[in-house]
Amino acid sequence: MKLASFDDRRIGVVEGDTIVDVTAVAGVDSAAWPPTGMVELIANIERLKPAILAHLDTAPRIPLEAVRLRTPIEWPNKVIAYPSNFHAHIEEMKSRNGAVSTFGAAGQGFFLKPSSSLSGPGDPIVLPAVPGREIHHECELAIVIGRGGRDISREDALDHIFGYSCLVDVVIRGKEERVMRKAFDSFCPVGPWITTVDEAPAHDAIEMQLSINGELRQHAAMTQLIVDIPEMIAMASSVTTLEPGDIIASGTPAGVGPIADGDRLHIAIPGVGEMNLDVRQGDGGWHKVWDK
Ligand code: MN
Repeated sequence: MKLASFDDRRIGVVEGDTIVDVTAVAGVDSAAWPPTGMVELIANIERLKPAILAHLDTAPRIPLEAVRLRTPIEWPNKVIAYPSNFHAHIEEMKSRNGAVSTFGAAGQGFFLKPSSSLSGPGDPIVLPAVPGREIHHECELAIVIGRGGRDISREDALDHIFGYSCLVDVVIRGKEERVMRKAFDSFCPVGPWITTVDEAPAHDAIEMQLSINGELRQHAAMTQLIVDIPEMIAMASSVTTLEPGDIIASGTPAGVGPIADGDRLHIAIPGVGEMNLDVRQGDGGWHKVWDK
């Protein structure tokens, strides 16, 4: 299934260029706050799946172009992100500022992005007003956790994946705390939907790419990861309990670079999804902490 959030936080199943509203059959109150409907659906998917599939047989199809897709999981318990997880990206960052750890993700571990940085395929990336600072795109795979757990072994890890999505990790380059540089609202576009593992390529067969204004900037395969997907789950769950709906960002390959007002990003993960993201310069976000 391709599960999406749309319009006023309704839940839908995408089929071709249509979407089926399954909010009611999934028992989701789309008006509830906090907006945890998709997290609850993921947590209860085995119980809800038969009714959802039965609903798909008869329910009306809505043209995808008639709805506004939102980020599929608006309120996950956490977004875990692996830095420096492709050798070629470590090399490009070393040549940039010479100060990046040479360990990579295998010796460095992960960080967190706030759930409030999540945005969707219909939302622009809004650049904060931090004159003179470079803001970069990082093309990444989002791994969505299905069954939670702690101390998950590498061998069991794949059983805990619900699905995949596209993710852009946006960051102000610099020496301030990494989490702050990556925490602005709209600095974590995820979407356009979650493709469940049964419909997605095998974890080690996934490829991803990102273009800006039609020009290819990043392209990589998961076979090039330093910490592969099972090990990301093992490492993360050795520290923190993974919950249904948690998102793990894979780390980015080489080719990162600045984004600016008016740019259009296109991220594509064959067999998972693709989305266009517009970049807008915002007025807010300035603080003297950035003024160096
Ligand atoms: Mn990243």
